[in-house]
This record gives sequence, structure tokens and C-alpha cells, in this order.
Amino acid sequence: MNEWTWTYEGYVPAEERQREALCTLGNGYVATRGALAEVAADDLHQPGTYVAGVFNRLSSEVAGRVVTNESIVNVPNWLSLRCRVQDGGWFSPDSSEVDQHHLELDLRRSVLTRRSRLVDPDGRVLAVTQRRFVSLRDPHLLVLESTWVPENFGGVLEVESALDGTVRNDGVSRYRELPDDHLEHVRSEAPSDDTVLLHVRTNDSGVDIVQCARTRVCLGGEVIEPDRATELGERRAAQTLSVAVGRGEQLVVEKVVSLFTSRDDGVYSPSVAARHAAFVAPGFDELLERHVTSWAHAWNRCRISLDGDVGHTARVLNLHIFHLLQTVSKNTAEIDAGVPARGLHGEAYRGHIFWDELFIFPFLTLRIPELTRSLLRYRARRLDRAREAAAAEGFAGAMFPWQSGSDGSEETQTLHLNPESGRWLPDASHLQRHINAAIVYNVWQYWQVTTDLEFMRFWGAELVLEIARFWASATTYDHQLDRYEILGVVGPDEYHEKYPDRDEPGLDNNAYTNVMAVWCLQRAFDTLDLLPATRSAELIEKMRISHEELDRWGDITRKMRLCFHDDRILSQFEGYDQLEELDWSAYRERYGNIGRLDRILEAEGDSTNRYKLAKQADTLMLFHLLSDAELGDLLENLGYECDDGFFERNLRYYEQRTAHGSTLSGMVHAWLHSRHDPHRGWNLFREALESDINDVQGGTTAEGIHLGAMAGTVDLVQRCYGGIEVRDDKLRLDPRLPAELHELRLSIIYRSQPIELVVSHERIVARLTEDATQGAAVEVDILGESRCLRPGDTFEVLR
Ligand code: BGC
Repeated sequence: MNEWTWTYEGYVPAEERQREALCTLGNGYVATRGALAEVAADDLHQPGTYVAGVFNRLSSEVAGRVVTNESIVNVPNWLSLRCRVQDGGWFSPDSSEVDQHHLELDLRRSVLTRRSRLVDPDGRVLAVTQRRFVSLRDPHLLVLESTWVPENFGGVLEVESALDGTVRNDGVSRYRELPDDHLEHVRSEAPSDDTVLLHVRTNDSGVDIVQCARTRVCLGGEVIEPDRATELGERRAAQTLSVAVGRGEQLVVEKVVSLFTSRDDGVYSPSVAARHAAFVAPGFDELLERHVTSWAHAWNRCRISLDGDVGHTARVLNLHIFHLLQTVSKNTAEIDAGVPARGLHGEAYRGHIFWDELFIFPFLTLRIPELTRSLLRYRARRLDRAREAAAAEGFAGAMFPWQSGSDGSEETQTLHLNPESGRWLPDASHLQRHINAAIVYNVWQYWQVTTDLEFMRFWGAELVLEIARFWASATTYDHQLDRYEILGVVGPDEYHEKYPDRDEPGLDNNAYTNVMAVWCLQRAFDTLDLLPATRSAELIEKMRISHEELDRWGDITRKMRLCFHDDRILSQFEGYDQLEELDWSAYRERYGNIGRLDRILEAEGDSTNRYKLAKQADTLMLFHLLSDAELGDLLENLGYECDDGFFERNLRYYEQRTAHGSTLSGMVHAWLHSRHDPHRGWNLFREALESDINDVQGGTTAEGIHLGAMAGTVDLVQRCYGGIEVRDDKLRLDPRLPAELHELRLSIIYRSQPIELVVSHERIVARLTEDATQGAAVEVDILGESRCLRPGDTFEVLR
């Protein structure tokens, strides 16, 4: 296997759903799980197709409360294609003997190929080869080509090709007690002999979804017109094609499906658009060729090349980049959509958008900054909703929701099910106000890398200022302490939602939240400085920011409260030191995998709130996001000392108390260790790479990939190993290559200019390519040596 191929051998029913998630094909507009074409949803399979930004809400009563959940919608299954001997049983790996089964995902070209030999109960052997892709070039086209060869028999084969709108959102077993039927029938029709069309609508949000499938048939290499029987029903449009096939003869059916929704721009109506697209689409080969060209261009922008004995690592990184580019692409930039934490690969977290952008944008920003810009606009479009949310809670400014979907309302569930105990429990994770810091951080990173003033003028500055204003208003002043505080929040560690002896949820003075709030306020001042004076003045006027308000912001940046305990450990929150220590080894012994300590303890009648533990990096996130210098300055400005051993002491302390119940955690810890102990960092990085490919959380990958961890591992290679930092208008390179990696080659875009980087243990090279704008000049600092690069210039520093 090379670094561009991802394969599975043999049919393993228990692995099917995980394979489906990892073999998902998408183009940033729509994605389809890698379910076999002949299966429908059941305990083993979950065909799913999700269109970015298409959500629907359903309500029901749970544990005596009415709950409403908004979900990304599983749209009709366009793949549905099955084959049988006339009037016989359908061939499928579940009803036939599987003599051979091979899945191959071509990461470079984004094509999934399946080869099987199925044997029916009468001993008839049918060879099946299927190739599919979701066109990157033609975002509304999805293509499946199927070749069947009856190896030891001849006769009439019937092929049923359907658009199946009876699908439900039933991909996550925890959600099964809740309603899952999001679609209603509008129309099914056959616009022409070789096409069928299905029009459905989401039953609450009213989004029209139209698919039109065109089938063409080849027998023994010749195009033929088969007998067609069309079946148009409620939420279903199908055609059965009957063809007499000789023993050993090849029957090929090409299914090209167009998909449009009423959210698409530039169309008259989704049904007219879908019909038109299915009529005019070229054939498989032409569609494939242009799809492959687009993927080649995407890889030109996003490739990471590694040297060393690291074939597996390179392949997994390619898989991670591949899934990132399938979730967000130029096609996403054409619509209003955010980046869902679990990709468009499954229904976990209902397609919601979290702070995970924080781990996803940095890679994109240095490769395809246009995408970050468009994804940040997803937030900017929801600024008014965030202002309303702040006001509703008595705050000023804008308070973005922890989980966001269609219109930017808070979509976090209010109850969640603990599958270990079967109990529905109140969920206070919406108190993770730190999502707001993530948005400012992302805007700021984008600004630093691009200096896109237009973006800041139009959208970025207002986001930063409104969020800063929210932080200031969420801050209270303690006269006795002469310090500001933020009370009643939840930090990234979701295993602490409240104090053991308090009824109401929320914790006080979460270090991560407080420091990041200060950081946001500092960036608000920087933002006012970087804008042209007239724009700053306009924003101050529009937002009615007074001098007194600005003075208070400044005061908070000098007097925010942080708590410390033991030997200068930054307390995760006030009162953390009063919690009990957990007997980690006893729990490990009893339960093996203790990632989900929350579920384990609750099922025992206990609670994570009582202990010194964390689901994931919380306080340590500060060291992940801020450089030593930046964090040191910020703390010093607050009057707290940040001595030399501060980072390592805190890392050691919290590391021993972290359950890594989120895949984000292992990746962040790998990054932190890479700074001082590259070997340990490398081992943790290799573990983080396994998150999805080995489904380390025992079943969650099947419900959708963990995009934050996937993108985060790629970003770790790029920015941590590559040592890339953008500070004070300089691109700084201070690589930290582990011994196992001999060389790293990257091409990034910095301030609109393409820069090639080569990093090895012997040398570091930065080259401003000839593609750079004429007259461009870029300041690059390698290991403390600075140079101004012009197009064609190479700057090499030997170690
Ligand atoms: C993590 C969050 C994360 C979410 C979505 C949770 O398990 O605790 O930090 O945002 O998953 O990935």
C-alpha cells in the first residue's frame, strides 16, 4: 500500500459502519458515506448523504421535558443500486456468500473502488466492481459506475437503481429514542426515459432537496437500451433495468445523480436545476477526468511531504487532509455553511459546529486562506443572533453558542443520554463560553497570516469587538480582591460542569476562559489600531463604545483573577484544589478504557465533578494556543509570575489527571510534549493518528470522523514540527523535527505569497517562489536570523 491508498480486505460486518465513515466521499457541498450501494440502513449499515448547511428541527418529550434538536439531514440515498437474477434474491454480502471483497480509497483522486465476488445460495457467482466519486469539480454531481459479470451463469439480470427518500437520521444509537424522520414527499417523476427525479422537503425548515438520477447501460462494451420499469412512489423514485447477459459478459450501469437544494444560489429552482444537470452531464470518464484534475489542484495546495521511515504516518496524514478537503472546499465557500466537528461523515453531534474550528483553521489558513475567510463569515452572518443571545442573558456584546447549526441559535442538547446507565441527564455544556475566544483567535490568526484588511473592515473587526464587549460584560469586579472574575462557566473540560456542593451549573474563574478573555480584549485594542481611523471611528460610533468602556476593558487586562494551588499550579478553576484525587489505577484496572469517566462514574452513582480530573486539555490549552512569550507577557501584565518551570510543571500536573475523553486531547498533549521531549511527543502524535483509523473511542468513528483531531494532527506537523509562527509581521521558523522525521517539505501561502519550506535536521530553507506577486517582499526569520525575501529568493540556514 502506498501513501495514497487506503484499503480494506474482506467483508467484516462489525467494521462496516466505521469503514463507511472513513470511506466517505465528499466535495465540501455534499458527502456520502462509503456504504455499499446495495444496502439500506440496518444494524450493520448506515448509508448517509449530508448536504453542508441543510438542517431540520424535531421536538419530542424526553424524561418529562420537551426537547428540540436540530440535525444535519440525511438526504435521500442516491447510491441505491442492486442486482439480481430475474425474480431471484438481490445479491448482497449479507444474503450471499462473500468470496472476495476489497475496498480501495484513492486519496489522490478521491475515488472509491469496490471489488467483490458474491455467490448466491444456488452457487451463481457474480463479480462486482464499482467505482464512485462525488465530483469536486461539479459539486452537484455524484457518480457511481457498477460492473457485474455473471461468472458461471447467464440469463436476465435485473438492476434496480433508486433514489431512496425513506431514509432517516438513525445513524447514532444514543439518539434512537428521539424522532429521526426529517423528510416529506413532494414529488417523484421520470423526466425522461433514462432519468428519475425525487423531490423531498425537510418537514420543519422547509428546505427542498431534489435528486435526479440518470442511468446508462453498456453490455459487452456496447451502449444498449435496456428494458426499463419505472416505479414512482412516496419518497422514492426507482427504475429496474432488465438485460439478458451471457455467461462471462460484462454489464455496466453508470448512474449519474444531480443534487440541488433550495439553499443553492444561481438556480431557478432545485428541480429545474437537477433535471438540467442530469440531462447535460457528460459520461463517467469525462466527469472523472475533471474531478481528478480538481483534486490534483487541491493537493498542490495542501500536500505535506515527509522523509524518513514514516510510510504509515504519511498515509494517515494524507487520509486526514483528504477528509478535511472533502468537508470544506471551494464549494463550501459558495454556500453558507460552517465546519461540522464530525465532518459530513455521520450524524454524531447532529452536524453541529463547535470550537473545533480552532484546530481546523490554522492548517487551512496557511494553505487555502480563502476557505478560512468564508468559514469565518459563517460566524459573521450570525453576529446578530449572538448579540441577541448575549442580551437574553443580561450581557452586552455578542455571545456565540457552544453548538451552532443553521441560524446560530444555541443548539447544545439540554439532556443527554448516558448509555452506561440508561439515564437522561441535564447537560450544561452550553456554558462553554470559551467558544467566543476561539472565534476571536481564529479571526486573529487569519489576520496575522493574510493581513486581509478588507475582511477585517467588513466582518472581522466587528466580531472581535463584539466578543470583547461580551467578555467585559461577563466579568464582575470583586472590590475586596481588586480583581475581575468570570463566574458560572464551563471550561473545555466537560467533565466539570458544577461544584459538587452547588445545585446550579457553572464554575468560577476557569483559567482558560479568564486568560483567553483577557487575550480577546487585548486583540480588540489591536483591532482598533489596525483599522483605518475612519473605520475604527465608524465602529465605535455604530457600537456606541464609550471611553469608560474602553478604560474598563484595559483595566480587566491588568486585573483579571487567576487562581493557583500547590507549587504554583494554575488552577483549572477556583476551588479545584478542594476536589478529591481519583484512584486512576483502580479505575483503569476495573474498566480498561477510562476515557469516558463521566459515563463510568455517573453509572456508579458518582460524578466527575468531585474529582481532580479532566476530560481533555483545559488549562493546558493556554500553552497550546499561546507562545511562552505571549502567555508570559499576559500573566505578567496581570501581576502573576510566570517562571521558567511554569509550563513543564503544569504539563506534568494536568497530564496525570487527564482522561483524554476527547480525541482533541491526545493531539494537544502530543503538541505540548513535542516542544521539550520530541521523542515522547512523537509517540503521542502517533497515538493521536490512530484516533479514527483504529476507532480508539470504541464506536464513535462510525458516527462521523473527528475532524478537529484529524486536522489538528496535520497542523501539528505543519506548525509544530515545521516550527511556523507568525508574529510581529514576520514569518518565523523554529522547527522541532523529531528524530524519526528526516525531512519535511511544505508549501504555504503567507500574506498572499507562496513560500516553499524544507526542514531537516541539517538545514532549513525558505523560498519565495516565482509565482509570488512581482515586487513582493516577505520578512522571514529562521532561528533568529532575518531576511527579506523577494520572488525567486531562497534563504537557507544550516543547523
Ligand atoms: C469535546 C469538545 C468538542 C466536541 C466536538 C467533545 O467531546 O469535549 O471539546 O468540541 O467533542 O468535537
